[in-house]
Amino acid sequence: MTTYESYTQQTMKILIILFLPLIFLSCMKQPVYYSMDDFEEVDKIDVHIHVATDRDTFVEQARKDNFRLLNIVVDISNTQKEIVEEYNYRLDIKGRHPEDFEFATSFSIKDWDNPDWVSSTLDWLDKGINEGAVAVKVWKNIGMVFRDKNGALVMIDDPKLDTIFNMLTSRKITLIGHLGEPKNCWLPIGEMTTNNDKGYFKDNPQYHMYKHPDLPSYDEQVAARDRMLEKNPDLIFMGAHLGSLEWSVDELAKRLDKFPNMSVDMAARIGQVFYQTKEDRKKVRAFLIKYQDRLLYATDMGDNGKMDVIDKQSEMHNTWIRDWEFLVTDNIMTSDLLTGEFQGLHLPREVIDRIYSKNARKWLKMFPDDKRKNKAILN
Ligand SMILES: [Zn+2]
Repeated sequence: MTTYESYTQQTMKILIILFLPLIFLSCMKQPVYYSMDDFEEVDKIDVHIHVATDRDTFVEQARKDNFRLLNIVVDISNTQKEIVEEYNYRLDIKGRHPEDFEFATSFSIKDWDNPDWVSSTLDWLDKGINEGAVAVKVWKNIGMVFRDKNGALVMIDDPKLDTIFNMLTSRKITLIGHLGEPKNCWLPIGEMTTNNDKGYFKDNPQYHMYKHPDLPSYDEQVAARDRMLEKNPDLIFMGAHLGSLEWSVDELAKRLDKFPNMSVDMAARIGQVFYQTKEDRKKVRAFLIKYQDRLLYATDMGDNGKMDVIDKQSEMHNTWIRDWEFLVTDNIMTSDLLTGEFQGLHLPREVIDRIYSKNARKWLKMFPDDKRKNKAILN
C-alpha cells in the first residue's frame, strides 16, 4: 500500500514537472487576439478628427465607444482670422472635456509675402503650444494651391518654412502633414481604386489633379515632402492619410525605413488598405506587424453641428466598429468604400494596442497624466 502510494505520488510529481512549463507557456500566450466583444473595453484614440461646434454629439459617442480624440484645426487655405476662430473651438472643447480631447493647431500662409509673416506665425504657434496644442498641422494648400507674389507655388520644402520647423523640432512638437493627395487624385475617376475618392474628386474638381496637368505631379508632391524631412531629420513628423503613400505599403515602408521620426495616421485612407488587402492580404498584414510602432489609428470624421445627432453618432459608431472588425478579426468583409470582398487582418493584440493608443501617447504625447488604463490589457 505504502509502496503503491509513493509510486503514484512520484508519477504525479514527474508529470507536473514535465507539464508545468507547457501549462505556464499556454497561459502566457492565451489572449493573443481581441474579438468584436473587446471593442468597448479597449482604450482607443482617434488621432485625426475635426470638431468645431458647441454641441457634445461627438464626445458622447466617443465615450460610449471608448475613444479619445485629437481635434485638429482645419486649415483650408484660411485667413489667420478664420484659423483663430477654428482654434478657439478646439481650445474651448479641450477646456470643457480635458479627459477626452487633445488638440492640434495650424497657421495661415495667406500673408506669406509680408516680411513679418515668419515672426508673427512663430508668435501664434508659441501661444498655441503654451495653451496645450500637441501638434501643428500643415495642409495640401502648400504644394497645390497657394502661390507667392511671383506666382510660384509654395512647396513644403521652401526654406522659409524651416524656421517654423526648427522651432517645432526644438520644442519636440509634432508636425502633422497632409501634403499632396492620394495617388487616385492624378487618375481619371473611372480608374480610381476607392469609391470615396471617386466621390470626393467628382465633387471637388479643383483638387482633381488629373484635370490640372500644369500643377506638380504626384511624385513631385511626395519628393518635396521627402526633401523637407531630409533637411529636418529631428523633426517629429506624422504624415496624415498614410503620408499620401496610401496606395502601396512597399512605398510607405521605404519612407518609414528612411525617416525614423516619421509616423503616419490612417485617416480617410482605410479604403486603400482594404484595396491592398484584397490584392495581397499577407503582405499588408506583415507590413502592419513590422511597422506597428509607426501607424496611428484615425478616421478624419468631424462635427460642425449641422448633421442630425442620431445620423452623426451612427456614422461614427459604424466607422469605428468597421475598422475594428477589419484590424482585429479575420472575417470576410465588404465595404461601400470599394467593390468586392476582403478579409480582416486579425492582428495580434499588442499590435492593436499600439495602433489604437500607445503610439498616440508616444508620438503625440497625448494624455500624459492619464490614469485610465486599458482594462482589457490588465485582465
Ligand atoms: Zn482632416
